[in-house]
This record gives sequence, C-alpha cells and structure tokens, in this order.
Amino acid sequence: MILPPLKGRFAPSPSGPLHFGSLVCALASYADIKSKRGKWLVRIEDIDPPREVKGASRQILLQLESHGLGWDESVVYQSNRLSLYSEIINDLQNKGAIYFCDCNRARLRELNGVYDKFCKTRQLISKGNATRIIIDSNSDQIGFNDAIFGWQEQNLTTNVGDFIIRRRDGLISYQLAVTVDDNAQGITDILRGSDLLGSTHRQIFLQRMLGFPQPNYTHLPIATSKNNLKLSKQNLASELPAGRESENLWLALKWLKQNPPQDLKVLSAEKIVGWAVENWNPTTIPPKTIQRAPEGFYETHCKQSKD
Ligand code: GLU
Repeated sequence: MILPPLKGRFAPSPSGPLHFGSLVCALASYADIKSKRGKWLVRIEDIDPPREVKGASRQILLQLESHGLGWDESVVYQSNRLSLYSEIINDLQNKGAIYFCDCNRARLRELNGVYDKFCKTRQLISKGNATRIIIDSNSDQIGFNDAIFGWQEQNLTTNVGDFIIRRRDGLISYQLAVTVDDNAQGITDILRGSDLLGSTHRQIFLQRMLGFPQPNYTHLPIATSKNNLKLSKQNLASELPAGRESENLWLALKWLKQNPPQDLKVLSAEKIVGWAVENWNPTTIPPKTIQRAPEGFYETHCKQSKD
C-alpha cells in the first residue's frame, strides 16, 4: 500500500512581517516534517482584511526564503478560496448542522463566551446574520493527544457552545477556513503556537462533521516579550533583523531547546536549517504555554512590564 505523503504547513496571517515567534513556528514545523521526509507548505491566511497589513504577505515569503525555509508546493492564499468555504457552509446547511444568529454583542458578553442556542429555533435567514454550527451532546466531548502537551480534552457544549463559522459581515471564521484548508491540502502534521491549543477541539469537531481525517498536533510555547504577552505587532515585537538570518535561526533553535552547537552560528541559513532537520528532537521542548523570546526581538521601552 502506498501511503500519502506526510505534509506540514506554516500558515501565517499577514498582519505584519515575521517576528521571532513566527520564525520559531516556521522553523519547527519545517524541521519536524522534513525530519519525517514530508513536504512543507505555506498558506497565507488573508481572510480578515481589517487585520491585514499591505505588503506583509510578500515580506513574510521573502523572510522565509532568506532564512532557508523553502516550501514544496505553490503558496495558497485563503482569499482565493472563498467559494469553497461557501460550498462547505451550504453542505452543512443541507445537513441541518447550522443556524443563523442575530444576537448582539451586549447579549453575547453576558454569556461569557458560551453560546446558549438562543437563535437555534428562530429560523432567521442567512443575510446579515452570523452562522453558527450546532454542537449536540452526543459529539461534544473532544480529546486529542498533543505531541508536547499530552492529552487535551474539552467539552464544547460547556466551553464554547454553538460557535460561529461565518461572521455577520460575511467573513469566514478562522476555525472553518483552517479546517477546510488543512484537509484540502492533505496536511497530516500541524505544528503551531500554544495559543491555538484550545481551538483545536473545535477544528476536530468540524473535521468529524465534514468527514475529514484528523491530523497530528504539536503545539509550541508561544514566544513572549518582557510583559509575558505573545509577540505581535501590537505587543512590541521587532521585525526579524535582516542580514542576521544565521543568528536568528541559531537563537530560534536554542529557544526550541535543540542545543545547537556554537560553531553553527556562522554557517549559512541553509546549513543551519539542514542541521535542524537532521537533529530535530521535539521531546526536549517543554509543555509550557509561554516562553520569553531572547532580548533584542522585542522593544523594551514604552510599555509597562509586570516584572
Ligand atoms: N494564521 C494563524 C496565525 O497566524 C495560524 C493558524 C494555524 O496555524 O492554525 O496565528
């Protein structure tokens, strides 16, 4: 029997250039899948125009290339796939798996993030309303084994309730788009930041609903700045310094507890990435949700720090 190829992916949202946190995710997912002789894909998650920064997609791809992280198939842009997401939503509607919801923000705030099915029997139309997927109590307990964090279980009814798969403004939710695309691209191994650990149960729920296979999951600690906040444009993450690719990669490997030898630092980005693939060992990465990025990868001034 010929098995389909293993595939991993890096799926950045183009909300800014790569920073240290995104580099560790890209490098780790690359090293992980290549160490298993799999393919590495890049998907630009550009379906949230308000969060998009002009030119960021192109810059991210250039930064990946300059860090020796080349992808194996054409880059996929989610913005080109809106008709596929709509088809899937239509199928779900035909199965009676969704309903439309006009609850306002104030009402949702009172529910503390767990939707109470208020609109389920109201027969609202799709136009101008959010689309929610129905979680029933026969399929609401979801568990999976994370390669770093171990067994992760969540009850969707008590944790999130019927969640949104298309917003009232028509934007497709991250949960739906990521589930559809990981399946369409044949992704077998997902490696990403621990901020998405709690989203994984919703994605597995959707996979089961849509008859998709479940990929393997590995979640990494997220790299934080001094105030213990995820590195991001808003939280003073610095853009990866250009011209210092080898050092960036070496520091990323050190942060990932891969124990890179000191003399690796002076080699080319390609050689360092090659070393990472040869020596990849995810068991050394601690199951911590956050871990401070090295100094120099975030601004230390202007914002209050907790320590
Ligand atoms: N696009 C998401 C982000 O940039 C990552 C999605 C994923 O890896 O599932 O945070």
